[in-house]
Amino acid sequence: MACNHFRCSVVLVVSVFSLNAQPESNRHLAVHVSDPSGAVIPKAMVEVEPLAHGTAFTAQTDDRGNADLYLPSGKYQLSIRSPGFCFKKRALEVVGATDQSFSVVLPVDSCPGPCQMACITVQAESSTATRGIPISNSSLSSRALESPVTIGTAHNSATELATKTQLERLIAAHDLGQWTFTHEIVIDEKSIPHSHPVLTLHTRHQKQDDELLSTYLHEQLHWFLTGHPAETRAAEQDLTKLYPSVPIGYPDGAKDTESTYLHLLVCQLEQQADRVVLGDKRTTEVMQFWAGDHYRWVYRTVIQDEAKIEDVLKRHHLDTPNARLPD
Ligand SMILES: [Zn+2]
Repeated sequence: MACNHFRCSVVLVVSVFSLNAQPESNRHLAVHVSDPSGAVIPKAMVEVEPLAHGTAFTAQTDDRGNADLYLPSGKYQLSIRSPGFCFKKRALEVVGATDQSFSVVLPVDSCPGPCQMACITVQAESSTATRGIPISNSSLSSRALESPVTIGTAHNSATELATKTQLERLIAAHDLGQWTFTHEIVIDEKSIPHSHPVLTLHTRHQKQDDELLSTYLHEQLHWFLTGHPAETRAAEQDLTKLYPSVPIGYPDGAKDTESTYLHLLVCQLEQQADRVVLGDKRTTEVMQFWAGDHYRWVYRTVIQDEAKIEDVLKRHHLDTPNARLPD
């Protein structure tokens, strides 16, 4: 993707409203597109592409910046673009009888630094040759240029809403852009935290800010490794030599052998990220808590063998996750 949403200050606000009375089995997707001043953007191209297979749905915004599409259930990639603006891509899932409405603010091409460069890349996207325009790292540190995360709740319960507020507060209080590989978060009190297909957290850490933050970083770091499958596999291979036999299953290991090796990488990256965000003392406390809680052998091992596992990450260029850098 040329105009990376980590570098473009595209603000995406999602709201789901009650189903309308239309007889169609397809669900209504309403998209409103405007610029940062609030002026509507007519003739913006809205494209909804099925993730599996099938034809893309497209529509253009009208004079009021609105576009309407009617979609069958499924998983899609939604993209919105208009000449002279950064564009936005995001995952979209149409389920059941729920209509959806998106308001999208596209920054203009004149935004400074990385956004402008990313926009230039986007405008030339149809000729793929210009992908990969170098962007200096120093100019990518502004949080204002990053797309925010969207935090939803699975059941809208009081505990889920409290955890959502807690996580929003924590994200606002820390500069987490480096580890923000996915921007869709769901709080689900009935779920064990997991990273895919949507980063999902549970509600057990309402009185434990550091543990909630650490879990959030853990799941984000799964997305980092998923983006580097060959390197991750090679690093796991190295770990099999260091640790020929690993536990499987709760409470010491992960669900299978591969996942236990994978978690040595994820949990070390989590420890590393925690050190930056929480400092050494609180990181030690959080890691000790996990070492007595779940993946116990994995966490005990990353505490004890931090340098060794860090070396494995380094060998495969996985030691510096940074969502702000181009792929
Ligand atoms: Zn995990």
